[in-house]
Amino acid sequence: MKYIASVSFGKDSLAMLLRLLEEHYPLDAVVFYDTGMEFKAIYHIRDRVKRLLHENGIEFVELHPSEPFLYSMLERKIKYRNKEGYHYGFGWCGGPCRWGTSKKTNAIQKYKKSVHDIVTDYVGIAADEPQRFEKSKSEGKRLPLVNWGMSEDDCLSYCHERGWYWHESVLDGVVELYSILDRVSCWCCSNKNLKELRNMYWQLPEYWDQLKDLQLNIDRPFKGFYKGTPKGVFELEERFKNEKEDQVIGGENK
Ligand code: SF4
Repeated sequence: MKYIASVSFGKDSLAMLLRLLEEHYPLDAVVFYDTGMEFKAIYHIRDRVKRLLHENGIEFVELHPSEPFLYSMLERKIKYRNKEGYHYGFGWCGGPCRWGTSKKTNAIQKYKKSVHDIVTDYVGIAADEPQRFEKSKSEGKRLPLVNWGMSEDDCLSYCHERGWYWHESVLDGVVELYSILDRVSCWCCSNKNLKELRNMYWQLPEYWDQLKDLQLNIDRPFKGFYKGTPKGVFELEERFKNEKEDQVIGGENK
């Protein structure tokens, strides 16, 4: 039997991992899939966790996409489904078109098969995400956070209380990503809501500029269309610029 924890180094999976270690649960390996599009804060957490695992004699496994994320997003030659011809790149990842998630799931499955042993799989789904944990339970995964009754907020507090923060350096200081984002997933994820995007525009200009670069290379507007009007990165920027600064943190989410 091999005990494996799948982590993204967001608050839920990190809280799960820290508590598994603290309470001496059996754990042989920790698996992280690096899309290549994570915030720098995630990589800092990863590096710190790697040291912790090394001290505890636990294997750290890092998986990567078979092709770079940006190549799949912008350059890969793809045949149209319902018509002749090709287009280049899958475009934005998120919503119904989460091609990056499929690659991640496949890579993790492949890794588990390569273990050639019975795998007990710890997954960091919080107790207040019932829509996610029913599916995972049916797949035989272990959900320690559900057993411990830890909600998403509990997970964030648990990490903070132990000195783990998602600090991102910006020009005039440091931003804790969970103070401006609901989820610390890929910085280019089109699932980000308007509040998160507004906060990124104001507080994480380095990432916002990269979103603009991507939009210049992707026809589909980042957030699709609303009543026929495109909601691309540049349209969003125009909107945010025209808003008052007092809406920045925790502003409306429409
Ligand atoms: S976090 Fe978003 S962009 Fe990253 S793989 Fe998942 S759906 Fe795609």
